[in-house]
Amino acid sequence: MTTTITSEKKQLKQGMLDNVMRQFNNAADIIELNKNIRKILEVTNNEFIVHFPVRMDNGEVEIFTGYRVQHNNALGPYKGGLRYHPTVDIDAARALAMWMTWKTSLAGLPYGGAKGGIQLDPTKYSQDELQRITRRFTYALGDNIGPELDIPAPDVNTNAQTMAWILDTYMSTKSPNERSKNLHVVTGKPIGAGGSEGRDRATGYGVFLTIKFWAENKKVDLKNKRFIVQGFGNVGYWAAHFLEKEGAILTAVQDAYGSIYNEDGISTEKLLEYVQANKGSILGFSGANTMDSADFFGLDCDICIPAALGNQITVENAPKIKARLIAEGANGPTDVKAEEILLKRGVDIIPDILCNSGGVIGSYFEWLQNRNGEIWHLDEVLEKLEKKMRESFGKVVHKAKSKKVDMRTAAFIIAIERLEETYVQRGIFP
Ligand code: GLU
Repeated sequence: MTTTITSEKKQLKQGMLDNVMRQFNNAADIIELNKNIRKILEVTNNEFIVHFPVRMDNGEVEIFTGYRVQHNNALGPYKGGLRYHPTVDIDAARALAMWMTWKTSLAGLPYGGAKGGIQLDPTKYSQDELQRITRRFTYALGDNIGPELDIPAPDVNTNAQTMAWILDTYMSTKSPNERSKNLHVVTGKPIGAGGSEGRDRATGYGVFLTIKFWAENKKVDLKNKRFIVQGFGNVGYWAAHFLEKEGAILTAVQDAYGSIYNEDGISTEKLLEYVQANKGSILGFSGANTMDSADFFGLDCDICIPAALGNQITVENAPKIKARLIAEGANGPTDVKAEEILLKRGVDIIPDILCNSGGVIGSYFEWLQNRNGEIWHLDEVLEKLEKKMRESFGKVVHKAKSKKVDMRTAAFIIAIERLEETYVQRGIFP
């Protein structure tokens, strides 16, 4: 199968790289970032493109293209997810790797940023094929990933099962004595394969926490507030689950197949059950009506959570958005120009590198447990996550006030300043 990238998809990924560069440059200008450090941070350190053959169920061989981009490792090993999607290519991987660098830096983690994936539509392949594709991709990456070098994790269309295959393949290439030392080569693993309690919900819980902190700050009661979610994958579901528990009402959901709406509220648990039984699609759920996807972002609501792909909130739909808060569960969902419109209109935006950082913080906890031979309880993981996220949120709010900038710019400033400090202290080799 050859994956065709339509011009629309092309725009999406080019938009992401353009977006992250503008966000970076905007913050770098404000703090007058040292120009040599700026040169370093503008480019990615390493980029791997691998082509590899995989035998399909029908006996035919197909060639796939996989990517891993390592943006920066000044603060520690490269860290970031692997995405399986037709829009994955070198520019998308570059953009997403850069966001990981800012995200891990802002969160105060000892990590750099990386991202990668395979350009494919996973719905077109069987589980067996996906397993062979994943294993062959891991083999092709070889020692360019590693527990102290570059640590992948789940992202769009990959999950704990994908991570277990990567772990098993990576370990199988090592000598028996080395195998157990490599458990932390990936995070987001199933619990039985060395995963951590709470990693499954860490991103969505983190999204919820940032909304809770925002509400505390603004003295807003989340009870009966209406929210809409784009993407009902791991991030969208868990964010909705925790918001619903707080008394907020989920009124609309959009996924790759369409959009559904119910003014009286959609049960997140019932929708999850339905989606799992319906090959991952929300369409046809009896607890809501189907609506035109073009009207989704313009729905009357209090909180909007984009938790799918990049560049979803654009100059076209930004003027119609009624939500008072946008919480970015996805990476890069808001176009830079759309953001200008929203900020002018007084809409608050909790930026992706803060809002969805619970995922990589959860990954860090898993990595630490593997490295130290420890197993933590769920309560302990969630408590530690809340503490870290509260700290980041507080820092961003404080920086936004002191620099008189929006939350994204503040988050970028904190992330860049931490990297600037390390480069100034270490100098440039030789
Ligand atoms: N893919 C997630 C993200 O974009 C998690 C990355 C990780 O845990 O390394 O932040």
